Amino acid sequence: MSTFLGIPNAPRGVGHLRGTEPFPVAARKALANTQLRRNLGRATTTIRAKRAAVVAELPDWEELRTAGEAIKAHTMRHLDHFLAELEAQVTARGGTVHWARDAIEANQIVTGLVTATGATEVVKVKSIVTDEIGLNDALAQAGIHAYETDLAELIVQLGKDRPSHILVPAIHRNRAEIRDIFLREMKDVDPGLTDTPAALTEAARLHLRRAFLSARVGISGANFAIAETGTLCVVESEGNGRMCLTLPETLITVMGIEKVIPAWRDLGVFLQLLPRSSTGERMNPYTSMWTGVTPGDGPQAFHLVLLDNGRTAALADETGRQALHCIRCSACLNVCPVYERTGGHAYGSVYPGPIGAVLSPQLTGIEDNASLPYASSLCGACYDACPVKIDIPSLLVHLRARHVEEAGHRHRLASLASPEAITMAAAAWVMASPARFGAAQRASRLGRIMSRGGRIRRLPPPLAGWTAARDAPAPPTQTFRQWWHTEHERTEHERTEHERTGGGRP
Ligand code: SF4
Repeated sequence: MSTFLGIPNAPRGVGHLRGTEPFPVAARKALANTQLRRNLGRATTTIRAKRAAVVAELPDWEELRTAGEAIKAHTMRHLDHFLAELEAQVTARGGTVHWARDAIEANQIVTGLVTATGATEVVKVKSIVTDEIGLNDALAQAGIHAYETDLAELIVQLGKDRPSHILVPAIHRNRAEIRDIFLREMKDVDPGLTDTPAALTEAARLHLRRAFLSARVGISGANFAIAETGTLCVVESEGNGRMCLTLPETLITVMGIEKVIPAWRDLGVFLQLLPRSSTGERMNPYTSMWTGVTPGDGPQAFHLVLLDNGRTAALADETGRQALHCIRCSACLNVCPVYERTGGHAYGSVYPGPIGAVLSPQLTGIEDNASLPYASSLCGACYDACPVKIDIPSLLVHLRARHVEEAGHRHRLASLASPEAITMAAAAWVMASPARFGAAQRASRLGRIMSRGGRIRRLPPPLAGWTAARDAPAPPTQTFRQWWHTEHERTEHERTEHERTGGGRP
């Protein structure tokens, strides 16, 4: 374990954490998809209203948020201690703990465990961490088929699609699209299938039933792991999780190391915060907990894979580590004006929205997700919504600063000045001389020629990047110096007139 948490050599995240296109390019394509925007707008508006109603019922909501924040901060400060305690408790109760440095190691461990059972099919509970490491692809390469059993994950899997939301991975699909996917991909589905929610769920239920009853291996993530007893916890809404966690002979849980919490009393705080913030429910329908192996009851082999994949690198940044406090409720996505317009695919990472913008660049190293900290208007809605008070706007600014510093460092290594350094040097040169500053102000009047309706929509290079994603205001008709000069002259004139007409000094 000492090497696992050896922060100076902490592994970087690999797997499905990096997009193929920078956010501005992918977002531009997403914005052109009106169906996507309609689906997202409808879904996020509904979830926001539900959340607001159940949060308003709790008079101590702010105190709960503060408690959640404090528990997470304490856990991160002593993460090595709580992970060691978790490992000891799981082992003492008949489970086996595996440590995975990155996605490749985690996939090797899980694939090896499944292969050892002789199974060629597994059932899975929705688990974003297994999406992060690309587990389904790794299992497929080993000849093992993974059934996603959460309805939204099943839609994504059958549609050969990617999740676009933490909680509702198929949020970008409407009912008619889902019916078409089911008709195309499900064998034995009723050809007269309608797009009512009841009909679609029934089709999914029938499709999954055989897999539930025959699978010998279940794979899950974990919402929480309680160090003091080695108990794992999964919360869900459909009951599919309960089936995956109890029916198979072998259960494999893959968990990011940040999911550990110290004690049962802490779980009480998070079970109030999470359902209200995610689905807008007072309590989620199914909360499953298990501790090691119980003879004659449930899976008789239990493996816990503890995944780093960039988390210790994030932990090393005392400001950035706040992103590890996330309980994946998705409230920040549902209130984010950028997410609502672009959807999750534009972020290119399995963690989309505001939390993805601060978590993914830290897991992979900033350079690999450099555009994400800029994918925000910094309006602060995410901070207000976050149940564990992660200050996402400050983290975004922090990561932007890190990106600029690291880019500057790379340029210095290449004996080049960075674009920021060149811009700042030019600004310093201009501002050091009143004559140069005046000339620059006069030149800025050119901007008025390029403006329409008080806005400049496109600047020429090298300033084109500024207007690629926003308009620039047209320069004012008068510079401050001109205004000062005119005002000063007018005041002087009035004073002279006042004295000439015998009024004395005003
Ligand atoms: S950052 Fe906060 S609001 Fe966003 S998913 Fe995580 S816990 Fe929820």
